[in-house]
Amino acid sequence: MEDSVRNVVIMGSGCAGHTAALYAARANLKPLVLEGHEPGGQLSLTTLVENFPGFPEGILGPELVENMRKQAARFGAEYRIGHVVSADLSKQPITVTVGKETIRTRTLIIATGASARWLGLPNEQALIGHGVSSCATCDGFFFSGKEIAVIGGGDSAMEEALFLTRFASKVTLIHRRDQFRASKIMLDRARQHPNIEFLTDTVVEDVHDPSRKEVTGLQLRNMKTSKSWDFPTSAMFLGIGHIPNAKMFERQLETDQDGYLKTHDYVLTRVPGVFACGDVQDRRYRQAITAAGTGCMAAIEVEKFLEKQGH
Ligand code: NAP
Repeated sequence: MEDSVRNVVIMGSGCAGHTAALYAARANLKPLVLEGHEPGGQLSLTTLVENFPGFPEGILGPELVENMRKQAARFGAEYRIGHVVSADLSKQPITVTVGKETIRTRTLIIATGASARWLGLPNEQALIGHGVSSCATCDGFFFSGKEIAVIGGGDSAMEEALFLTRFASKVTLIHRRDQFRASKIMLDRARQHPNIEFLTDTVVEDVHDPSRKEVTGLQLRNMKTSKSWDFPTSAMFLGIGHIPNAKMFERQLETDQDGYLKTHDYVLTRVPGVFACGDVQDRRYRQAITAAGTGCMAAIEVEKFLEKQGH
């Protein structure tokens, strides 16, 4: 166990965590950032980010998040690779356990983000890494010249489909409805691309073929006609949204029906000294810039909290 009690521990190293770290470091609070199992968060899995202000030509997601990390580290934020196994928020100081180590802290910022959602198909898990993927940036390269499928109807699916046209000979975008959540600009780009085809009102019932350790096709069903058929493809990329990484806190903090942490006054939880920011508490906007914004708020609230406590 660390002897001293820290001022602030930040769980998560995406946009929200890095921004909280930057503000806390500049307030001389010497924040400790626990990077978690997906360092860099969702930005590290994306390509060109065109809607983060300040980059007129856009910036690559991994570069943006790495810059944020460097900026916070320059002001004294300490980064540690480690996955939090448990946290006790019931008394002061709060304790956070990482592996065999227990860290004591006066405040905790939860910026654990959200992770990719899977479809839950019988063969899906067996084929992850063998043609089933939730990260076009990571795995698209392996499917050069192949025909591939992207599932989903939001911006993530459009972005993945567009990105995958760099490698694939054809991308089929499969969506369970004929209405799309995607923004008009992204949807139009995908619709206008000559190598993207749309298959709407269609659900995936399973993916073949685990015995060959590769994706050979999908079993599809039309929602309106109930007709099922086999659809040959070399890969299935999922762009069907995310699940908040808040399970560890479900007994100690309030969550909504989908597991997002509930906050009041922007980033306050019901436990004094515990703040939540970014995608783990934001089911509405879920943008890099809004995650950064709430990260900033959480750090400012930490400052206020510590000041009130006389630290
Ligand atoms: P989303 O907007 O929630 O869209 C998820 C899509 O997946 C929906 O079309 C949904 O279908 C479908 N889906 C969910 N569960 C499914 C299931 N079990 N089977 C089949 N389909 C399923 O999520 P997102 O696309 O990840 O976007 C999240 C947020 O990030 C949004 O605010 C988005 O604007 C933002 N984002 C922005 C950019 C960008 O601007 N460059 C890029 C990526 C994401 P239904 O529509 O039928 O529910």
